[in-house]
Amino acid sequence: MSQREFAYQIVDQLRNTGFQAYWAGGCVRDLLLGIEASDYDVATSAKPQDIRHVFGHSRTLAVGAAFGVIIVLSPDRKIQVEVATFRTDASYSDGRRPDSITFSTPEMDAQRRDFTINGMFFDPIAEKVIDFVGGQADLASSKLRAIGDPDARIGEDKLRMLRAIRFAARFGFEIEPATYEAVKRHSPEAAQVSGERLAIELRKTLETLRPAWAVEKWADTGLLRVLLPEIADHWSAYSEVVSAMLREGMHECWLARLAGILWPCLGELGEAALDSLKFRLKFSNEDFVALRFALSSQGTLSKADSLPWSQVQPLMVSPGIQTAIDLTELRSRIGQVSTSTAEWLRERLGWPMESLDPAPLVNGQDLVEVGLKPGPKFKELLWRIRVLQLDKQLQNTEDAKGWLRIQLDKNSDS
Ligand code: ATP
Ligand code: MG
Repeated sequence: MSQREFAYQIVDQLRNTGFQAYWAGGCVRDLLLGIEASDYDVATSAKPQDIRHVFGHSRTLAVGAAFGVIIVLSPDRKIQVEVATFRTDASYSDGRRPDSITFSTPEMDAQRRDFTINGMFFDPIAEKVIDFVGGQADLASSKLRAIGDPDARIGEDKLRMLRAIRFAARFGFEIEPATYEAVKRHSPEAAQVSGERLAIELRKTLETLRPAWAVEKWADTGLLRVLLPEIADHWSAYSEVVSAMLREGMHECWLARLAGILWPCLGELGEAALDSLKFRLKFSNEDFVALRFALSSQGTLSKADSLPWSQVQPLMVSPGIQTAIDLTELRSRIGQVSTSTAEWLRERLGWPMESLDPAPLVNGQDLVEVGLKPGPKFKELLWRIRVLQLDKQLQNTEDAKGWLRIQLDKNSDS
């Protein structure tokens, strides 16, 4: 069973018990756009305790019961659907979450949602859209518009400013002027959003097919000053270069795109800026390592095909190399690296592991056998043999031991 089928059954079952129930929000939008929805949410007149009663306590989780949200699990517990009671959000004093909610009607529930395209319901049984907010018209004319008064809606929840740019970037929509002007007016208030949430929006936005458009809008609205204050002052000087790098419809990873945004300003930034970014946006260690590596490895990567393989290979097996090569490719789009070098790197990265990172020809044990005493010299010799191996000057273990004996003889001569 798919999540969609299960969400259908939930609506059906709630209906049969006498409640109103619809699919709601993003899944309705995606359905109308003809794209696969990432998840299906159900909105209903049933109260949390009713929902739990209809599906049974063992198959429901009351994670968001205070907000009227219950998770319903499929009989095999593999699929889950959020089922939320129609509600109205009361005042927002923290700029992010309503202080309290009251249960209400579908019309009112639509009003609490952020954008018209996200504010529709769908009756899957009658196959009918229920649209109280003009979402269908805005979808048809590719507009992202706040529901109700944009200043008030953004005032309630500052995250909506970042969501506006993300959804517009994702669907290739324009932001309706009154909504856009409100984002401009309120952008400094986005600083009230937690670092984690900012980072999620940053990532999801850079994952869309219009990252350059999105950065341009971040800069124009002032949101860039909250998301990436480190580069906000330098942005105007580099915006053209960055847009040329982040061309539409390409497939580099979001971290490489972030690296691309930072790259032109890097000279002015330094390590401290990267650390402040990591701290503010609560990067995972893995992502941060990849980001920093991508930026620091460009010197070598941009001329990789003219260097000895032994200098390039250690980078090719480092964490973050995928991101780093994506960045090299971004740079090749603005002529900072030759396309053939970027292709060469991509081709090497596709090598099987045994070719990309062959087993060493010798180990410490082999060194002892040849007559060396363990000591600080060991590491250096192993490294020199590794370099010769990678550069194809030593082909096998016997060659390597032969080379070692020659080194030993040289040392005892002197
Ligand atoms: P995605 O495909 O990215 O999940 P989505 O529209 O489903 O897009 P969610 O963040 O999953 O987005 O939210 C589900 C729905 O809840 C939205 O479509 C919208 O109706 C409502 N919603 C979510 N976040 C907000 C918010 N900050 N303010 C108002 N309504 C919101
Ligand atoms: Mg969703």
